[in-house]
Amino acid sequence: MSQLPRIVVLATGGTIAGASANPASSARYQAATVPVATLLAAVPALQSVARIEAEQVAQVDSKDMVFSLWSALADRVQYWCGQPDVAGIVITHGTDTLEETAMFLHLTQACAVPVVLTAAMRPSTSLSADGPLNLLDSVRVAAHADARGKGVLVVLNQQVHAARDVAKAHTSAVDAFVSAQCGPLGYVQDDLVRIARAPVRTATGVLPVPEQWPDVEIVASYAQPGRVAVDAMVGTGVRGLVVAAAGNGSVHETLVAALRDAAAAGVAVVRSSRTGAGHVAIPPAADPVDGVFVSAADLNPYKARVLLLLALAREPGLAAAPDRLQALFASA
Ligand code: ASP
Repeated sequence: MSQLPRIVVLATGGTIAGASANPASSARYQAATVPVATLLAAVPALQSVARIEAEQVAQVDSKDMVFSLWSALADRVQYWCGQPDVAGIVITHGTDTLEETAMFLHLTQACAVPVVLTAAMRPSTSLSADGPLNLLDSVRVAAHADARGKGVLVVLNQQVHAARDVAKAHTSAVDAFVSAQCGPLGYVQDDLVRIARAPVRTATGVLPVPEQWPDVEIVASYAQPGRVAVDAMVGTGVRGLVVAAAGNGSVHETLVAALRDAAAAGVAVVRSSRTGAGHVAIPPAADPVDGVFVSAADLNPYKARVLLLLALAREPGLAAAPDRLQALFASA
């Protein structure tokens, strides 16, 4: 009889590991308290899908994500990817910043076997907790041959998403994760894993995990913004700024002036959109910010920040080369 595939579960915390004294409440609970062994034991069906090994890499509420944990997670992913008999890796995570960690892994990890992030919107003790099924489905996907070569994946609510595309789009619903622009890659229905298409951008591992992380922040454009935040950040040595711009990358004139000054001081400026979907156009030649501000393409501000962080960490000089930075945003 052939052996079940060996799947490694790397646990980092989140609501999937959350607990509450009141099962009827999905809002009042403590995230990141239940150990991974308990989470796995709650899903006996896993035993017929894979041989599972688990590591508690961290136990945090992902709202408090830090770069040192990203680095530690990348180390563990690299380690397990290097083990010849590992068929796939599942990472349990909080939903709040899952899209950022997914983007980080998409950009830094070149793993031959599937790397799948999962999470839950409801704590493990709640009525209709979604974590157990999300965990089982993630292991099913990580163990599936069709998931190979698809880049880093995110599995929740029976859907399979590309790490680059997915974002949290609801405060509490179990279908909170959407790939607004391109849709999910596939779905899981009990034993059936159906990956319907491959993302074009599976070129993972294009950027190294930084030794030193530059200061890269996000500012937003809205009615009558001040420039004090941008000026203050430039004053404290920020290396990059992502603007959560309105609509198709529109930035208030007050902020344009502040950001042009920031760019002149050597800060990389990237325009993303606060709308939640769509591609920010590279401005036409008549646009006053053409060639100065970079378009984030279809990356939301939080994902654009991750790319800018990694790009500036690898090559600080990119801040003064918007054309090359634009080429990276057009391809990563
Ligand atoms: N605050 C939690 C976290 O991100 C939320 C969740 O996991 O749903 O860790």
